Amino acid sequence: MHILRCLALVLFLSVAGTAALGDGETAPARDPKQPVDDAYTAKIHKYTTQPFFTSPLVDYLPASKNVPTPEAVLGDVAGAPGILPYAEDVYKYMRLLEKASPRVKVFSIGKTEEGREMIAVAVSSPENLKNLEANRAQLAKLADPRTIKLDDAEADRIVAQAVPVYYITGTIHSPETGAPTALMELAYRLAVDESPYIREIRDGMITLITPVVEVDGRDRMVDIYRWHLSHPKDFYPPLIYWGKYVAHDNNRDAMGVTLKLTENVLNTYVDSKAQVLHDLHESVPYLYDNTAGDGPFNAWVDPILTDEWEMIGWRNVSDMTKFGMPGVFTHGVFDTWSPGYLMFIAAMHNGISRLYETFGNGGADTLERTLDQEEYARTWYRQNPPLPKVLWSQRDNNNYEQTGLLTSLHYFNENKRLFLKNFYLKAKRSVTKPSAEGPAAYVLPADDPRLGSQAALLQVLQKQAVEISRATSAFTVTLPVKKAAKPKKDAKDTKEKDTPPAPTTRQFPAGSYIIRMDQPYSRIADALLDYQYWSPDDPQKTPYDDTGWTFGELFGVQVTRVTDTKVLDVAMERVKDVRALGAVSGEGTIFAINNNAEPSLATLRYKLHDASIEAAEEPFESGGKKFSRGTFLIRNATRAQLTDAISDLGLQATPVSAMPSVKTHPVRAARIAFVHTWLSTQTEGWWRLALDNLGIPYDYISTQTVSKNSDLNAKYDVILFPPVGFFASPTAIINGLPSAWGNPLPWKNTPETPNLVGKNDSTDDMRPGLGWEGVANLQSFVAKGGVLLTATDTSRFALSIGLADGVSVGNAQKMKIVGSVVGTRLVDGASPIAYGYDEKLSAYCDNGPIFSLSSVSGARGGRRLGAESHTRPTGRGTMDDPDFTIGRPGVEVPDEPKSEIWENPLLTDEQLHNNFRVIPPANRARVIFRYADSKELLISGLIEGGDEIAQHAAVVDVPTGNGHVVLFSINPVYRGETRGTYSLVLNTILNFDSLNAGRKLAEK
Ligand SMILES: [Zn+2]
Repeated sequence: MHILRCLALVLFLSVAGTAALGDGETAPARDPKQPVDDAYTAKIHKYTTQPFFTSPLVDYLPASKNVPTPEAVLGDVAGAPGILPYAEDVYKYMRLLEKASPRVKVFSIGKTEEGREMIAVAVSSPENLKNLEANRAQLAKLADPRTIKLDDAEADRIVAQAVPVYYITGTIHSPETGAPTALMELAYRLAVDESPYIREIRDGMITLITPVVEVDGRDRMVDIYRWHLSHPKDFYPPLIYWGKYVAHDNNRDAMGVTLKLTENVLNTYVDSKAQVLHDLHESVPYLYDNTAGDGPFNAWVDPILTDEWEMIGWRNVSDMTKFGMPGVFTHGVFDTWSPGYLMFIAAMHNGISRLYETFGNGGADTLERTLDQEEYARTWYRQNPPLPKVLWSQRDNNNYEQTGLLTSLHYFNENKRLFLKNFYLKAKRSVTKPSAEGPAAYVLPADDPRLGSQAALLQVLQKQAVEISRATSAFTVTLPVKKAAKPKKDAKDTKEKDTPPAPTTRQFPAGSYIIRMDQPYSRIADALLDYQYWSPDDPQKTPYDDTGWTFGELFGVQVTRVTDTKVLDVAMERVKDVRALGAVSGEGTIFAINNNAEPSLATLRYKLHDASIEAAEEPFESGGKKFSRGTFLIRNATRAQLTDAISDLGLQATPVSAMPSVKTHPVRAARIAFVHTWLSTQTEGWWRLALDNLGIPYDYISTQTVSKNSDLNAKYDVILFPPVGFFASPTAIINGLPSAWGNPLPWKNTPETPNLVGKNDSTDDMRPGLGWEGVANLQSFVAKGGVLLTATDTSRFALSIGLADGVSVGNAQKMKIVGSVVGTRLVDGASPIAYGYDEKLSAYCDNGPIFSLSSVSGARGGRRLGAESHTRPTGRGTMDDPDFTIGRPGVEVPDEPKSEIWENPLLTDEQLHNNFRVIPPANRARVIFRYADSKELLISGLIEGGDEIAQHAAVVDVPTGNGHVVLFSINPVYRGETRGTYSLVLNTILNFDSLNAGRKLAEK
């Protein structure tokens, strides 16, 4: 960290030093010949709360005869108190600009989940806009240096005349409300202002603006704000839903690209061949360039980029400091490790990612704001810190946002040849990756048993604009020699010590997918498919987000990192659209589909309403083919129906002559209730998204609905209660928000809030939680035979209300597993929950609860942490000798029953004696998967103190009454990244009334 900080400081000094030289850069100054819009300007001043909260760039508005100012739509100036425009109003203004000025062009870039439009606005000189396509073609050559045969001289010719694109995105986070008005005014300034400073930007580059990224969430936020304005004395409801699925995590989707907003911005960024993606946020006073932080930086970004971050960021600080604006800084608490942020689309596609945190009031009210000491403290990277207490307005925020952006644009334009060249160099270095740092390719074998999940992973890469190829014949690669383990000092066999391990080879069948690394977007493929290692000794002790994400592991598909460059010579063809084709291989009345834990099996069950499907409880053979446990046996479906149903699911159906002799049970389309709280909906939102994509229907109900329904079994077979998030406590789930004071917090559509509900849930008052009635209803549901599935914090909740006897949760002492990929091991493969899985399974874990089992009701696990004591008591003899007692013959000490960490501890005869607390074997918890041993726990990311959770149960099925509670310590459904563990949830759903299948009971 020290080295990094020193480097940054040197950079800072050198940048500041260059600026002081005065190299002919245009200073910000108005064009004296251009009239000023006095009325608008007066309002800017009125709404700016301190003279130093503005700059010479934005403390006036140039007048135009024909171009309307934002006032035309807003009824006031940008950033005015009390005014938050809907996305539609922002678009209306941008289209007015387009109509009035040849310097503005509006593009529709796609729709949101709820069908709202997303736009991008290009502002530049009319000439640049006229040449948009031709210029794009030039930029495309820099973006893909293969097209100019990696010819640096040709690149230089293009760099010398191409016009760069700087892409700005606003309000992805809906409660961060300032960007849309700031960007409306920014577009106006760029289109109208004739000052040399602005003219240079306009003529020299193309500014691309998406004023609202989270459009669905924006409209909800404006609703809430309007409700607040019309109920000024009341508390207003917190924004529980932003987009349809997730809230703040919409800025963690740039890996999985599961949300429309990510896809639309990614496509716009890649298609426009932009050099920068600059995302606007609000939280930190007053302007924090939150691009780089203090590390560790993502290992896959080009060092050229990390230098660019510092160049632009520190120059920003310098420029705004000179304007006298306090509280502008960069560096600070961020690590830039995870590539999940929207801005990282640029970092992973050879551009420049940037992010601002400006200061926002969560609406357009002007508020007295008091800061914490750490926010106003002067630090080495924040020499002119914010003030401890100020009156802060949305206009102040808009002044900072626009000033930061304008100085960035101007600096970028001044140095555009350098940045365009860097853009080319980063792309070129991506193309030359195989012979430089490697690898040469990633290979996904054609014989992977999970072709559906394999296709899903490849589709993510295709969304990321990664080229996928397919081998037309079988091929062999040489695998890298694994570094020999250090020989033991006392190794007797010197031969073994000296012989280096021989290189091995691996053969891949024809049809295997090859992701070549000699392509311009190899960087993102490498970042997603590679492994991550975050050292517990890293000076950064508070990772900002997940530390591991290896997609092959989390998707449960085979991915081989190939360094042998000969792989690039393999005969292959490009695949435009990867699809997992399903097939039925013959005629018959019974069809078998092998179970490989493919989520699409659940899709099939719900698709084939009328078919009867059974699951084989043991492996079997038929017609010379081997079928695994859990294999689907389908009747009452014609070949045509089946072919139609599986055509896109990557499943293979084989006719079998008769039902196999192994035991089977029905696989039914369970009626599912999906429960959410009114505390937070984001973490469960990823579960909804996964189920919707798989076509699994469910009723979406809140804990309040659960509290009102005393017969949940009448409607549902399975209740999913996914994680609430933020480690929600059981009491918070039961009590909800405080309701002993204050006013009801409605979440429903009203004249002031027409967009609030969308297709999600509604309530008259968000405050009540599950309540004790809800607890009783859940207990009754399980007692009467229902299946309740919980994960992470809801597992804690289920255990704390006694829904699953014999399992307890321990508190971690030192454990730190921060969004990591961990290893788990199959314990009970006969459980239907495990159908299709192998011995080893990788899973996502974020400090999951530590489960311990007990065979005695109400008892804690009683598991000692640390090594067991094996030494004998003090006495006569050597360590292995029996002791003696003077005056009587010696006795043998009876063996203590031994069990593994994840198991139900065996009972001693003492414990069994008249013990009504002993849980009968059939009622004891059944562990399906456990965490791997400590040494094998880490797959990707950070694990510190992992021995606290190592070997403990990760997925447990607890028979309760006539039903089951299925508890997860891992989070099996997360950010569209964990497809490999989806089937743990889906298997529970499909086998809800046969979960005891294959169960072996303890003797006592
Ligand atoms: Zn934000």
